[in-house]
Amino acid sequence: MSDCLFCRIVKGEVSATIVYEDETLVAFEDISPRAPTHVLIVPRQHVETLNDLTPNDKELVGEMIWRSAAIAKERGIADSGYRTVFNCNRGAGQTVFHIHLHLLGGRALTWPPG
Ligand code: AMP
Ligand code: ZN
Repeated sequence: MSDCLFCRIVKGEVSATIVYEDETLVAFEDISPRAPTHVLIVPRQHVETLNDLTPNDKELVGEMIWRSAAIAKERGIADSGYRTVFNCNRGAGQTVFHIHLHLLGGRALTWPPG
């Protein structure tokens, strides 16, 4: 989608600090980090919310989660602990309507989130 921020980052039209990319996913640093590690794992494919996933997207979601663990290991936060979050719709805090997995770590994280 031409007016979608994360589609524009995926296409290289908006700059971001890319930490990983392949034919399916792009991962980049969150512009407003909430923890020492705050990376967004984003599919190249535009999907607005988790509610819009189809059975064909199961592998895509698995890739996103697997990649978050791989980045956590690279960053040295896998053993201390990290959190992965999908916010779905406005009531849960979703502000960019192109699905993304937050990877947060590098500090103690409280539970439950607000
Ligand atoms: P959410 O609130 O779950 O939709 O998450 C959207 C995330 O995107 C927020 O954590 C923002 O800080 C982040 N964000 C917004 N604009 C940019 C950008 N241009 N580059 C990187 N991250 C961004
Ligand atoms: Zn998009």
